[in-house]
Amino acid sequence: MDGFWAVVVAAGRGRRVGAGINKVLLPLMGRPVLAWSLGAFQRAAGAGLEGIVLVGGPDELEQFAEIVRVGGFDAVRSIVAGGERRQDSVSHGLAAVPAGARVVLIHDGARPFVSPELIKEVAEAAARSGAAVPLLPVADSLRRFDGGLVTGEVERDGVGRAQTPQGFRREVLEEVLTLLRRGGATTGPGADAAPPLTDESAAALRAGLPVAAVTGDPANLKITTAADLELASVIARGRCEYRTGTGYDIHRLVAGRPLVLGGAEIPSELGLDGHSDADALLHAVMDALLGALALGDIGWHFPPGDERFRGASSLNLLAEVMRLVRAAGAQVVNIDAMVIAERPKLAPHIPLMRERIAAAAGVDAGRISIKATTNERLGSLGRGEGIAATATATVLVPALR
Ligand code: MG
Repeated sequence: MDGFWAVVVAAGRGRRVGAGINKVLLPLMGRPVLAWSLGAFQRAAGAGLEGIVLVGGPDELEQFAEIVRVGGFDAVRSIVAGGERRQDSVSHGLAAVPAGARVVLIHDGARPFVSPELIKEVAEAAARSGAAVPLLPVADSLRRFDGGLVTGEVERDGVGRAQTPQGFRREVLEEVLTLLRRGGATTGPGADAAPPLTDESAAALRAGLPVAAVTGDPANLKITTAADLELASVIARGRCEYRTGTGYDIHRLVAGRPLVLGGAEIPSELGLDGHSDADALLHAVMDALLGALALGDIGWHFPPGDERFRGASSLNLLAEVMRLVRAAGAQVVNIDAMVIAERPKLAPHIPLMRERIAAAAGVDAGRISIKATTNERLGSLGRGEGIAATATATVLVPALR
C-alpha cells in the first residue's frame, strides 16, 4: 500500500486519573506515556508510516517538543495545538497532514502499548474499505445495571470494544469531521435514542459509510483512571529489560596538567594526559553506558584528534552520551566504577565525583558507586605512571524487538 500518516491526539486533561496534569505526561517506567505511544508509531516508520502530527494542549507544546526531542522521534513532523473538543483537535491535526496523504490514522496518545503490527493492519484496512477500527472481542458476560440492581442482559456475541488507531481514507475523514462539526446525528430526529458520538469511526458508521473491523489488542489499553495507570505500569515493566555494559580506560600522568576524575578537579602535582580533560573515570563510565545499549564506544562518538573535543570537559561528553541513552528510551539503574591509582588519595573526593556523575545521569547519588584501589606497586600503574578506571553500568530500556 501507499504510505500513511498518523495524528496522535493528546490534548485531554485526564481528570479521572486523579493527577492535575495531562495523563500522557505521567511516567511509565520512567518514560512519559506519550513517549511509549510515539515510540510505537516511530517503529512503524519503516513500514509505511510517512509522518506523525502530534496534537497537544496549547500550553503543553513545549513539553511535547521536549519529549519528541529526547525520544529521537523524528517521524513527528509537526506539533499543533488542539481544540476544545476531541473533533476540533483531530481537525487541527488533519490540517497539518500534507494534502497528498491518502490514508490518515487517528490515535489516542493515552494508549501507549499500541503495536506497530496493529498500526499497519488498520492502515491497510482503511485503504481498502475507507475506514477501519480495531475491535476487541468481549470475553466477559455483559449485564445492564441501574442503581445497584442488575436490570438485564446484553448479547456479547458480535460486540467489540473500539480502540485506536482508527484509520480513514482522507476524504472519508474529512466527511466525518464535517458531520461531527454539524453535531452529527445527535441533533437530528431520533437523536435521543442514539448514543453520543465518541469517536470518528462511530461518526463514519452514523453517516452510513463502510467501516472495517480489525481485531484489537488486549494490551492496547487506554489510560483513563488511576487503576488503568497501575495496570499500564505492570505492562510497561514487562516490556522493559535490563542491559549491562562495561568500560575501561587508562591515561598517563604528566606534569603541568590538572587531575580531573569523575568530573571533580583533584589537587595533585601530576595530571592525566589526553586530548580531552583525560578523565579516565568518566571515559570508563561512558563506555559502560554505550556498551549497555550497543551504541559503540567513545572513540567512535568523540574521535581523538577532533578539534571540537580538545580540552573538552568529559562531563559535557557524558551529557551527550546521556542524550543517546535517553533517545533509546533507557534510564540508568546503577553504575559501579573502580579507579586504580597509587596516588593521590581519592577517598575524600569520591562523594563529589558521585554527585557529579549522578547529576549528569539524572539519578540519585545512591545509584552511583565509586571505589578506589592501588595496583600494589605492581607494573606501570604501580609505579604511578598513570591512572586506570573500570565501570559497569546497568540500564532499564524498552525491550528491543
Ligand atoms: Mg580516555
